[in-house]
Amino acid sequence: MSKSSRGSPAVSLGPGWTVQQVVERSFNSGGTDTCTQCGASVDLGERHYRVDVARDVELTGRRLRSEHEQLVFCRADCADAWLGR
Ligand SMILES: [Zn+2]
Repeated sequence: MSKSSRGSPAVSLGPGWTVQQVVERSFNSGGTDTCTQCGASVDLGERHYRVDVARDVELTGRRLRSEHEQLVFCRADCADAWLGR
């Protein structure tokens, strides 16, 4: 029996990350992921929300590379809370 804290495990992105879009998704492939905001298990076969974020990464001061992440949320409220809306 693991003792889980009630604190939010929310991932906070560092400076430079920008939100690209918020999309509602469901995949037939199934599988589970963890809600970025509340830590709930998200069934990817069910409707859930994804937030695409990106940032430019500087490589040795010469080039910029775009780095993308997709964050999973169990519902719109969690995405909104994480986005600070
Ligand atoms: Zn959630």
